[in-house]
Amino acid sequence: MSAVFHSDSAQSYWSMHPRARGPRHAHVTVIGAGIVGLTTAAALSRSGHEVTVIDAAAHVGRGTSFGNGCQLSYGYVAPLAQPSLLPELPSLLLAKNAPLKIVPRLDPAQWRWMMEFLLACRGSTARQSSLELLALGSLSRHETDLWLRDADPAQLKYSETGKLVLLPSAQALAKAEAQVRLQAAHGPLQRCIGEDEALRIEPALARFKGRIAGAIHTPSECAIDSHALCLALERQLRARGVEFKLGQRVTGFARAGRRVAQLIANGQALDVDGLVLATGPATAAVARMLGFSLPVYPLKGYSITARIVDAAGVPRVSITDAARKVVYARIGDHLRVAGVAEIRGYDRSIQADRIAELVGHTREAFGAAVDLDSVSEWSGLRPATPTSVPIIGASPLDNVFLNVGHGALGLTLAFGSAATIAHKMSAL
Ligand SMILES: Cc1cc2nc3c(=O)[nH]c(=O)nc-3n(C[C@H](O)[C@H](O)[C@H](O)COP(=O)(O)OP(=O)(O)OC[C@H]3O[C@@H](n4cnc5c(N)ncnc54)[C@H](O)[C@@H]3O)c2cc1C
Repeated sequence: MSAVFHSDSAQSYWSMHPRARGPRHAHVTVIGAGIVGLTTAAALSRSGHEVTVIDAAAHVGRGTSFGNGCQLSYGYVAPLAQPSLLPELPSLLLAKNAPLKIVPRLDPAQWRWMMEFLLACRGSTARQSSLELLALGSLSRHETDLWLRDADPAQLKYSETGKLVLLPSAQALAKAEAQVRLQAAHGPLQRCIGEDEALRIEPALARFKGRIAGAIHTPSECAIDSHALCLALERQLRARGVEFKLGQRVTGFARAGRRVAQLIANGQALDVDGLVLATGPATAAVARMLGFSLPVYPLKGYSITARIVDAAGVPRVSITDAARKVVYARIGDHLRVAGVAEIRGYDRSIQADRIAELVGHTREAFGAAVDLDSVSEWSGLRPATPTSVPIIGASPLDNVFLNVGHGALGLTLAFGSAATIAHKMSAL
């Protein structure tokens, strides 16, 4: 069990930030009850705001926060947009089932996003994005650990067993080494290691022998059940008096000059004082209703969850198989396997061939140690910005704030992003 839960420090998540004196937005409505909206509500409640959380779904955590990879990956944050991606673009467009796949659509928003993504592939932008993500990751680690002090790790299936990013070739290892050097002064302890050492750290990787050139090892990384975390946050927030309006889709807003005066949900108008968008992949549509645009576009991914049959044959360390772009995390007595990034719009249907790929990779990696005959299947949309850096702060409207665009790292960055937006709003 993590040292986090044994600290004898008197500090707790709720005592860390004294109530903001007379916050300007005494009442804040948060749209979105995913991991980002729920942590935002917690940070705002801690700062002394009254909070209402509103979501279209009947239950919290039913969007992208439901079935993700469950890795708290604070220390290896390379953005998707990299110079090395540019030569691969033709194959991403043409290959039938590449792990990263672009399916062009008649959608100007997709083309605009792709143009900005290509610009973000510049080396200088990728470096800057890495450093911003690391700083946010470091704040998030601090905030998540504080919150976990009062939590039940077993209920959240929390583990702190480290992470290995498996690299298939000497070239991939050299590229990863450059990223580790860039991150060295800013992130947690991280080392490039050879195949033998990787297999010693995680013996359940025996089947990878001869398939990898080495790995990046980050001993301090963690995993947590993302959906269980959402449910725990909801319970805690209700106990603190946060109001939940679930099953209520926001379909419009009434403006008064540069402010939003009301939102319309399920046909009813609700008064708004302060407003935070934590709307995940629906962000661009909600921003359009408010009269501005935001570069958040969905990157579709998939996961399977399989029961562990032979504990010794399944890794305790979180794994990223960089060649196949698949992540593995142990969630209690199940293995969560997630992967695929498709730039193809908002369709969330589950494609059987993508699930079959994940099952195939898992079988190849861990054989009969997991029950692959009856897996839970899921697809979700990562709310991605072109640079992979989320948008946290003010909007063009005076009383509307943004905590959106967390892409492939929303679970990891949620608590840090929430602290950031609450600080910005309380400072006003
Ligand atoms: C396959 C996959 C694997 C991943 N693995 C990891 C991982 O290992 N680690 C990690 O850190 N991250 C991971 N992620 C990313 C992470 O899951 C997301 O970044 C995160 O869940 C985003 O949270 P969110 O709260 O912004 O969005 P969501 O969870 O989607 O929540 C947004 C909420 O807003 C609500 N909403 C939107 N519009 C409206 C409206 N008009 N009215 C009312 N409600 C509205 C929705 O109903 C939804 O509940 C993964 C993602 C995928 C797809």
